[in-house]
Amino acid sequence: MIDELKKYGDLEEHASTKLLNTYKIGGSTRYLIEPNSIQDLVSILKILKENNIKWFILGNGSNIILNSREYDGAFIKLNKLNGLEVNGNNIYAEAGVMVPNLVKVATDNSLMGLEFAAGIPGTVGGSVYGNAGAYNSCIMDYVQSVTVIDDDLNIKVIEHEDINYSYRMTDFKNNKKQIIVAVKFTLTEGEKERSIALINDRRKRRLESQPLEYPSAGSVFRNPEGDFAGRLVEICDLKGYKIGGAEVSEKHANFIVNAGNATSEDVYNLIHYVHDTVKEKTHVDLLCEQEFIDWE
Ligand SMILES: Cc1cc2nc3c(=O)[nH]c(=O)nc-3n(C[C@H](O)[C@H](O)[C@H](O)COP(=O)(O)OP(=O)(O)OC[C@H]3O[C@@H](n4cnc5c(N)ncnc54)[C@H](O)[C@@H]3O)c2cc1C
Repeated sequence: MIDELKKYGDLEEHASTKLLNTYKIGGSTRYLIEPNSIQDLVSILKILKENNIKWFILGNGSNIILNSREYDGAFIKLNKLNGLEVNGNNIYAEAGVMVPNLVKVATDNSLMGLEFAAGIPGTVGGSVYGNAGAYNSCIMDYVQSVTVIDDDLNIKVIEHEDINYSYRMTDFKNNKKQIIVAVKFTLTEGEKERSIALINDRRKRRLESQPLEYPSAGSVFRNPEGDFAGRLVEICDLKGYKIGGAEVSEKHANFIVNAGNATSEDVYNLIHYVHDTVKEKTHVDLLCEQEFIDWE
């Protein structure tokens, strides 16, 4: 099976997952596979299915909390699906393209809309899956269509009007059965200088408010209706609270950072501690925005 899989991409056995996520935590995976192309991904999925091997689709690992055990299956990393094409007001991007690169290409072509996403360190696939957003904008608003591999391993195109989405939520996230392989964006013609000014302003705001000097996976909790998760964590006096190497950021209370050699368990325990403390003190049941992978 391994030789067969290697025809369609790179494969490493018992690969460490620690450098595959922005918290820099984790363990290993039985197989790490990087498909060469969309068609090769379909072939890989067929082989894994036939051999009853489970898989996990990995983007840039910037919204996940990995376990320190070995994942008994395949991590499929889509970094080689990095095709990008500009056509008038549209940009076609494969799922492994990094969002900041997409924004740069849009800006270079004087296409506006995605400036808000310049500082989101995720892939196109992961960001459309979770409808990433910032400053009251979200990526799904700019999506014209999404190409997926469905549960029966057919490639199909889903149009914007057929996709339900809301704050950090999409059909893709609800029903984890589809793999996003490419996305077509529709943007508006603008001025490069205006886009650059907007991007610089957002970058400055992030640098001032987020602990970008430490590994993290961005905001931990979703903002509850009419409030901010960070405000609730802060009034519970949790800024700076530590478990092992994981710490509630002093700079932004809704960030947990790896302040030095944090383990997966440190991050897991700290998220639960913060959640439970906020619930006890404020009666708000915060929902985690980051995904726990393989913790059951
Ligand atoms: C410093 C920092 C700042 C951040 N700021 C923001 C922000 O402003 N706004 C925001 O929304 N987020 C933010 N994030 C969180 C994160 O970057 C986004 O959620 C990003 O969109 C996740 O993309 P990813 O490729 O890293 O996904 P991953 O973390 O790799 O995966 C997340 C989930 O998506 C699934 N997935 C990934 N690719 C695919 C695919 N092709 N098809 C189907 N499923 C897929 C995975 O299986 C997993 O379930 C921030 C993170 C950091 C570290």
